[in-house]
Amino acid sequence: MTQFDYDLFVIGGGSGGVRAARIAAGEHGAKVAMAEEFRMGGTCVIRGCVPKKLMVFAAGHGAALDEAALYGWQVEKGRFDWAAFRHRLDAELNRLESIYTRNAETAGVTIYHQRAEVSGAHSVRLADGREVTARHILIATGGTPFVPEPYRGLGAMTSNEIFLMDRLPGSMLVLGGGFIACEMAQVMQGLGVQVTQMYRGKQVLRGFDQDVQEHVAAALVQQGIHLEVNTDLTALERLRDGRFRASCTQGRVREFDAVLFATGRVPNVAGLGLEAAGVQLAENGAVKVDAYSQTNIPSIFAVGDVTDRIQLTPVAIREGHAFADTVFGGTPTAVDHADVPSAVFTRPEAGTVGMTEEEARARGPVEIYMASFRPMQTSFIGAETKALFKLVVCAVTRRVLGCHIVAPGAGELIQIAAVAIKMGATKEDFDRTIAVHPTMSEELVLLRKPVR
Ligand code: NDP
Repeated sequence: MTQFDYDLFVIGGGSGGVRAARIAAGEHGAKVAMAEEFRMGGTCVIRGCVPKKLMVFAAGHGAALDEAALYGWQVEKGRFDWAAFRHRLDAELNRLESIYTRNAETAGVTIYHQRAEVSGAHSVRLADGREVTARHILIATGGTPFVPEPYRGLGAMTSNEIFLMDRLPGSMLVLGGGFIACEMAQVMQGLGVQVTQMYRGKQVLRGFDQDVQEHVAAALVQQGIHLEVNTDLTALERLRDGRFRASCTQGRVREFDAVLFATGRVPNVAGLGLEAAGVQLAENGAVKVDAYSQTNIPSIFAVGDVTDRIQLTPVAIREGHAFADTVFGGTPTAVDHADVPSAVFTRPEAGTVGMTEEEARARGPVEIYMASFRPMQTSFIGAETKALFKLVVCAVTRRVLGCHIVAPGAGELIQIAAVAIKMGATKEDFDRTIAVHPTMSEELVLLRKPVR
């Protein structure tokens, strides 16, 4: 029998890779190695969800001060001290990175802090030239921000750089209408930056329920963001003083201190040696896998954003875990990608699970239950921002097919709603649940009549 250096070699120390390595080594006793060329923890921990959420909290404190003043507190609001925040953020990310490293090592995983590329069905080449063999290889290299061709190399930021700014710009152009664009536009505006958000499509958050799109867009505008939809960039120029001059399809030419491209993410496969090893890739570079995350080369698997199934950390973690159970635990496990909840951390947040109204309608008759109102906490101080609670119900089975919430804490609320929906709850199950009063989410069990 062929002898390999390892049972498993994982390329990429992010959410999916680390979970796979830890479960394979720690629970199933496999001999595992992992390579990470940057920092352990990957996009989520180092330059994604975690620093983003901390910035969301930072911006939220500014808004809370404004609200406190309207509630009667005597508050003196100063400017946001980015340097102080950065200092704390860096320390926190260092702490989390070392936890990721320690957890993997405690499970018995050998970590190579360098780049690795696939050199064969059972081998990888490390950046220092060493060749290492493994019975199985797991590609967990994640994704990388996409910047449209004409605008590369100008020094505009992506989400990779935004957490590393030396100082806050006075003004910023945010390009895109997806998760990152909406979240970052609002965070930066909340920290005191004058934000213009430009989106080429009809409404931000394409693919979300239309009522969610509209509520989030309205909130962005109410908070002072210059939101320009149906508008695309036509030219971008870097000026001598480091600022940017941007022209758009509406013909306007403006200058900004900084530009953020939040124009999507692509699978991180460049130079990984996958084509040479015969691994099939999709047109956008995503590694093609089956339900068990196996590629067309039986010894090579892939999980997380590099497979472009659903680009969310918890999905990558689930895929990494399922892979380890399948290959090393003797329990073939396919990840269920249906009804995955997610949240956009705007202010208020948007949480969503299941089908949008449009998707459900395309499948059969539906009833739509919805409440849109100004929440007590902010209507008291005259804020216009509206909350949304919406259920999409199958008119035949009565099952709740989708739940869409725009409200403070929607990310927390949708997690619980997702359990009910995953269990197959009907509208009547929601109805016979007694409300918690006074809350916003009580609306979910008080929606009496369909609005359409
Ligand atoms: P998204 O796919 O969400 O959005 C990309 C945006 O960029 C879209 O509005 C898209 O427009 C626009 N776009 C794409 N190409 C171009 C182009 N050439 N010119 C102009 N605009 C363009 O990607 P994000 O980068 O925001 O986020 C990546 C993924 O990361 C998300 O899909 C999500 O899965 C995950 N994520 C999750 C978060 C969370 O859970 N809270 C937070 C951040 C990211 P159009 O709609 O017209 O295609």
